[in-house]
Amino acid sequence: MLKEKMEKALNEQINKELFSSYLYLSMSAYSQTLGLPGVASWMKIQAQEELTHANKFFDYIHERNGKVTLTAIDAVDNEFGSVTNMFKKVLEHEQFVSESINKLVDISIELSDHATRSMLMWFVDEQVEEEASVQDILDQLAMVDAKGHGLFMIDKDLSTRTFVDNTQAK
Ligand code: MG
Repeated sequence: MLKEKMEKALNEQINKELFSSYLYLSMSAYSQTLGLPGVASWMKIQAQEELTHANKFFDYIHERNGKVTLTAIDAVDNEFGSVTNMFKKVLEHEQFVSESINKLVDISIELSDHATRSMLMWFVDEQVEEEASVQDILDQLAMVDAKGHGLFMIDKDLSTRTFVDNTQAK
């Protein structure tokens, strides 16, 4: 059985993952207005991935006989400036999520909830990948000054991303 403090924190994380999905969906729409269909597609897949994260917490709470409580999701911005600015906001958001996952790990340790701590390790690893992949895109954008033929090629490259539910890998 999940302890109340852990259950509450995991429920809050479901909200954060759903907010992330909503944020990236908004960024996908905004990318269309920038004329960057590849970035729009990348963002949409990012949004889908966040839903799988929310679901992983959702299923875990039930596995532990806990109660899922869904609360209101905050509104998101609809304008994100330049493409570089938008990816900087993605990186900042992922850093915020990494912090949040770390705090969950802290709570699991405090409560000696080793099962939850073990489940959370998947997210710790996932966040390293999330931050690295966004930093990689930011580096590429800087290399080409986020314009012209270089930007066109980056957009083409990002269009090749496919959706994989990697929460099912373990
Ligand atoms: Mg996530």
